Amino acid sequence: MAGPWSDGQCGAVSLTFDDGLASQLFRAVPTLGRHGLRGTFYLNARSARWEEGLAPWADVAGLGHELGNHTLTHPCSGNFDFVPAGRGLEDLTLEDIAQDIDSCEERIRSVAGPGPRSFAYPCYQDFVGRGARRQSYVPLVAERFVAARARGERANDPARADLHWLWSFPCERMDAAQMIGLCETATARGLWCILTLHGIHEGGLAVAAEDLEVLCAHLAAQRTRIWTAPVAEVAGHVLAWRGRQAADGRR
Ligand SMILES: [Zn+2]
Repeated sequence: MAGPWSDGQCGAVSLTFDDGLASQLFRAVPTLGRHGLRGTFYLNARSARWEEGLAPWADVAGLGHELGNHTLTHPCSGNFDFVPAGRGLEDLTLEDIAQDIDSCEERIRSVAGPGPRSFAYPCYQDFVGRGARRQSYVPLVAERFVAARARGERANDPARADLHWLWSFPCERMDAAQMIGLCETATARGLWCILTLHGIHEGGLAVAAEDLEVLCAHLAAQRTRIWTAPVAEVAGHVLAWRGRQAADGRR
């Protein structure tokens, strides 16, 4: 049975960057570009001057990177002290979150076209409501996107993973050796490793520019073994492979 990856590659890696931070534009995008790699950037587009804010991202999309949806207002649990009282996921309905996602989508489409696109759950959380009325909003996401990124324990098995609850490794404060280790461990097992990054020397969830550089150099040098591509692209490839597997099984 042929494996899921093309051209003799052994595994896949997706480099993902959340929240549209400035250092992604002036550090991550050029670093990926130097090594011929493409990533996924999950944006919110929530500012009043969102058209201005999204303008540089249109160029990023033009370079072949994926612009993913990360909701408009980035709603997270009210248990976080940075969430205003009464504005947490516990206080929202499914209609609220659908509207938030669709507003973001409209803005991203205006600079990056119709997709297919992937989604990233803000704060890795997928619910609205509390207690007996708490509900998952994964079904809403599955209706709208080819794939969605959460957080998890391991890399993703292309045969088994729920494409709308993909596991990723949060990489804040990791060095290059740790990130490369995650990619190589996944590749050794034929899996799809998704790394979640935020700022490069920016914010509280940062990685160092030097570590991103070494990671990208490694992935570029290993491109015949490791397929590095945006989340939506790998998800589309996995879906097509699953379709072929199912068709073979019916024969
Ligand atoms: Zn976020």
